[in-house]
Order: sequence, then C-alpha cells, then structure tokens
Amino acid sequence: MYDIAIIGCGPIGSGAARHASRAGQHTCIIGPHEQARASHQVWSSHYDSGRLTHRSARNIQLALWANEALSAYAEIEQQSGISFHVACGTLSISRDLRNFRYTAIRDELETQLGFRYEDFTPTSLITRFPMLNPSLGMTGIYDGAPSGYVDPRAMVRAQLTCAQQQGATLVRDIVTQLIPHDDHVVIQTQDGQTIRAAHAIVAAGAYSGLFGLLPTPVPHTIKTETVVLGEISADTATTLAGMPSMMVDCVSDVISDAYLTPPICYPDGKWYIKLGSNSVHDVFVESLPQLQQWIRNDAMPTVHGAQVALLRELFPAIPFIGFKSVPCVITRSPSGVPQIVRTHTRVTAVVGCNGALAKSGDVVGKHAVTASLA
Ligand SMILES: Cc1cc2nc3c(=O)[nH]c(=O)nc-3n(C[C@H](O)[C@H](O)[C@H](O)COP(=O)(O)OP(=O)(O)OC[C@H]3O[C@@H](n4cnc5c(N)ncnc54)[C@H](O)[C@@H]3O)c2cc1C
Repeated sequence: MYDIAIIGCGPIGSGAARHASRAGQHTCIIGPHEQARASHQVWSSHYDSGRLTHRSARNIQLALWANEALSAYAEIEQQSGISFHVACGTLSISRDLRNFRYTAIRDELETQLGFRYEDFTPTSLITRFPMLNPSLGMTGIYDGAPSGYVDPRAMVRAQLTCAQQQGATLVRDIVTQLIPHDDHVVIQTQDGQTIRAAHAIVAAGAYSGLFGLLPTPVPHTIKTETVVLGEISADTATTLAGMPSMMVDCVSDVISDAYLTPPICYPDGKWYIKLGSNSVHDVFVESLPQLQQWIRNDAMPTVHGAQVALLRELFPAIPFIGFKSVPCVITRSPSGVPQIVRTHTRVTAVVGCNGALAKSGDVVGKHAVTASLA
C-alpha cells in the first residue's frame, strides 16, 4: 500500500509527487500519456509549449507561490536534466495599467517579493521592445527575469523525473473510480489496476469533478478557452530574440485579458507566437461528453478572427506565415483563488486553478501534500 496516491500528472500532480517522494512518502502518481487531441479522453490544461510565469498576481499569496516556484525551477532542471524555463521577462501593456488587477498591490508585491517593476511610457516602450507597433499608444510595466515562460510539458516531465528518482511509481492510466474508506483509499483504473493508498490527492484539473473523483463536491466552474498559434519562420524567430511574454489589455467586443508568448519552437518543429484570451464565446462545461466534444473542436471563427487581428495590430512588421486555433479548458473557483481542500479524511483535492497555475504547480503540489498529511 502506498502512503500517497496522486491522481493526475499535470503541473500540480507532478509537483505533489516530487514533494511527497522527497519527504520519504511511498508515492504513486497516476495519469495517462498525452495522446492526439482528437481521441484524448482527458485532454488537459497544460498540453502546450508555453505558459507565462511571473510575479504579478491578484493577491500576495498567489504571488508568493509564483515567486517560490520561480526559485525552484533551476533545482528541478538540474536534478532532472530537463530544461523548461526561459527568463525573458513578462511585459504588461495597456492604455490604463490600472486595468491589470495586480497593479493595485504593486507596492506590496515589490516589498514582499523584493524586486522592482520597470515602467515604460508609450515612447520608451517602443524603444525597448521594437517588435511592438510604434502607434500602439500604450504604457507598459515589466517584470524582468526570472519571469518569462515555462514549457509546461517539459516542466511536468522534469517534475516526474525527479519524483521517480526519489522512488515514486508512475502509472500511465486513467482513474475511473476513487473509493475512500476510513483508513485508506482504493483507486480503480481503466486498464483494470487496483491501487491502495493511505491518502489520495486529486489533481486531475477539469476532470476531477467530471470523473466523480471528489467524494464531496468542491464549488468550481469549467470554462472553455481558445488560443491562436501564429506561425513564423525560424529566421523571424531569431530576429525576435529578447521578446518578452506579454499580458495585453486589449480593446475588443469579442476578446479580453489577452496574453502571449514570444516565439517558441513547438513539437512539430515550427515556430509560433501563441496568443490566448477570454472571449464572449467561451462556455461553461457541465459534463464529460461536452468537454470532450469541445476539445475535439477546431473551428472558432469569431474568436480566431479577433485573436489574429490583435496579433497583427500588436506586431504589424512580423511576417506571419499562418494561424491556427487550438481549444483548451480551465477551471475557476468562486473566490478566484485555488482551493486545496480535504474532501474526505483520506482525500485532498486541488480545484480551481483559474487559468494561471501551471507556473506554480510545484508549490501548489507541495501544499497539497502538506494538507494531505496534516
Ligand atoms: C489556454 C490556456 C492558457 C494558460 N496560460 C497559463 C499561463 O500563461 N500561465 C500559467 O501559469 N497557467 C496558465 N494556464 C493554466 C494552467 O495551464 C493550469 O492552471 C494548470 O495546467 C493546472 O494544472 P493541473 O495539474 O491542475 O491540471 P492539468 O494541467 O489539466 O493536468 C491534469 C492532469 O490530470 C490528468 N487526468 C485527468 N483526468 C484523469 C483521470 N481520471 N485519471 C488520471 N489522470 C487524469 C490529465 O491527463 C492531466 O495530465 C493556462 C491554461 C490554458 C487552458
């Protein structure tokens, strides 16, 4: 019997596995290999090559988690031998920077985390970041290195590698049932395995509730997201060296809260600038078939058009080769802050990552382990 069984090999589950195994817990982590989106049963939030990482957050707790996670990347990269962090900085731009919620606690962030943002006028912004449209008329606030982006797939591989080096068992399967008892849990998998553990941590992202893995419900919603990948050539990517990750307070009837990564070479060998956003066409998902149908979807013409238009407006000089839409999913908690909850004496769940916790997955996983053993 294991001390801890973790359901879900995402940023949080794999972070939990790293910390549990490091603390000497007999650890098992269960989750499937990534498969093609068209046939994947549990396509998850981190199946991508870029996730922004920065210290700007709506409250100090989230910022401290991000800061702690940023500090741990190098150790995880070194132990695993897998690189996943690029410290290119994160730039926020707007006509009114107060629209970014974190600017209301800027002084507290700088004091408690011990760093300084850099400010840019519309003119100095273009001088420093010449890839931007010179007519934007926006001001900027820059959170420099070690902020930037992580490759979430590589980060998860690195966390899992560390966990396995420390003795954790990795089971590549989908959990179909979690049965809590007074003194242990029993986990059943799709391939017919039965796993027993003293404690379970449920970290299956959008699927935790949809698979019936929460012994008591934890309030959260599941929301669709859409991103656009703007393809550029390798030569263009070279000219954009030094481009930061960005958060963009865009003005649009269709999209809001946009963010983007600098050029990243994806697993297909092509270079893309990825832009994501909320949109008025996002829907709240209620069932597993509805989510699986959404993930297999390819065509979101209105959102695609608005996201492409924003990329072209921001970077009129970049010669994009083409654009493609990719669907994704996030979870939200009513408070906007992720919930680490004991849903049973033997089961701890992490729910409601609010579209921003890939970067801090390792630290959130650590807190889930602490809560589980408390
Ligand atoms: C478009 C988009 C952009 C984002 N941008 C950012 C960003 O810039 N920065 C940032 O920090 N965060 C960002 N996020 C949010 C971030 O990706 C999530 O917060 C993070 O991935 C949550 O991690 P998780 O481990 O909880 O869930 P997931 O990443 O969803 O991982 C869950 C894992 O559980 C597995 N699983 C599911 N069901 C089962 C089951 N029944 N049995 C076993 N395993 C199961 C899945 O296969 C998956 O591996 C973004 C999300 C989206 C969708």
